[in-house]
Amino acid sequence: MPEQSIHSERRSRAAALLATLNPKQPLDCLVVSGRENVRYLTGFTGSNSMLLVFADGRSILYTDPRYTIQAEQQADCRVKIAKGSLTTELMDDFDRSGKLWIAVEKEHLTIGAFEAFTKILPARAAVEAVAGPVEKLRMVKDAGEIELIRQSVILNSAAFEAALKRVKAGITETDVAAEIDYRSRKLGADGPAFETIVAAGEHAALPHAQPGLAKIGPGMLLIDMGAFLGGYASDMTRMVHIGKAPARYRKAYKAVQEAQLAAFDKVKAGVTSKAVDAVTRKTLKAHGLDKEFVHSTGHGLGLEIHEAPRIGRKDSTKLEAGMVITIEPGVYFEGWGGIRIEDTVLVTKTGCEILTPTSKEQIEI
Ligand code: ZN
Ligand code: ZN
Repeated sequence: MPEQSIHSERRSRAAALLATLNPKQPLDCLVVSGRENVRYLTGFTGSNSMLLVFADGRSILYTDPRYTIQAEQQADCRVKIAKGSLTTELMDDFDRSGKLWIAVEKEHLTIGAFEAFTKILPARAAVEAVAGPVEKLRMVKDAGEIELIRQSVILNSAAFEAALKRVKAGITETDVAAEIDYRSRKLGADGPAFETIVAAGEHAALPHAQPGLAKIGPGMLLIDMGAFLGGYASDMTRMVHIGKAPARYRKAYKAVQEAQLAAFDKVKAGVTSKAVDAVTRKTLKAHGLDKEFVHSTGHGLGLEIHEAPRIGRKDSTKLEAGMVITIEPGVYFEGWGGIRIEDTVLVTKTGCEILTPTSKEQIEI
C-alpha cells in the first residue's frame, strides 16, 4: 500500500466526521466550498472550486477549465472540470438512488447553491448546514504546517527589521507600509496576509487603521504586519517611537507588555481560550486600562489570518498542543493613540513557544 498523502489523510478525517455531525443520522457526503478548506483537503489553490467528500472516503474536486493543468498538478484526488456551474456538476455525482444526507458548510456555501440542492432534490435530500467542520480539523496544526508558520513568522520579522531601517519622521504611513510589503515579497512571501497596518500618533487609536498619506512626525507608530509563506500566515504587531517616548507612553507600553506576558504564562494545552483572555484583561485592569482594551486577546492562524479559536471572552475552546494562536493585547485612547504588542505562539503540552523572534523591548528611533 502506498503511504497516504497528507491531503488524503485529511480527507479521511473529514469523511469520518460525517458519522458524528448529526447525532441522530450519519451523513452521506460533505460539500466543501470554503477555498482554504478545499486547499487544506486537496492541495489545490485555485480560486474557483468545490470538493465533495463521501463518507466512504472517495472525493471529487470540481473546478473550471482555467485550472485544468493546475488541478492536475496540485490535487491528489479525482478532478472534474466543469464547463458551467460547479454546483450543477457536483449534483450529478450525488447518489440519487435513496435518501441522501448532505452536509454543507454554513459559512461558505452560497444561498444559490443551497437552493439548488434543496430544490432539485426536494424529496430525496436532506441538507444539513454545519458550522466549520473543516475549520475544526484545521485548528490543530501538523508538523509540516507548524514548520511553514514558523518560516512565515521568521520571514515577517526579517521584513520588519529591514523596513525599520527606513522609518523616520517626514515619511508617510503609506511609505512604511509599502516598504514592509516590498521587503516581505523580496524575502519570498506569497504576499501580505492582510493589509499592512501602519498608524502614527492618534491614528493608532484605531485598532485596524489604514495607512494614509499624512507625514509621520515624532511620536508613536503602530505597525501590524503579516505574510503568507507556503500558504501559511504570520502576524505581528510592534510599536516604534520616533524620538524619546513620554512617560504616559512608556507606562502604557509596560502594562500591555505585562498583559501579554501574563497571557503567555497562561497558555497551555487544556486551558480554555477565554481563560487566557481573562488573565490578559485582569492584568490590564490592575493598571486601570481594561476599558481601553477593546478587542479579543488573539486568534488562531494558519491558511487564514483569522482562524478558530478566538482567544476572547466567550470562546470556551480548550487549547490543544499544535494550535497556533496570536496574543495581542492593546489599549486605545481617542485623540492620543494606541499601543498593541502581538506575537504568534505555538501551544504545547506544557505551555507555549513564542515563535516571533523580534524583540519586545521599547523601540525608540
Ligand atoms: Zn496583527
Ligand atoms: Zn492578529
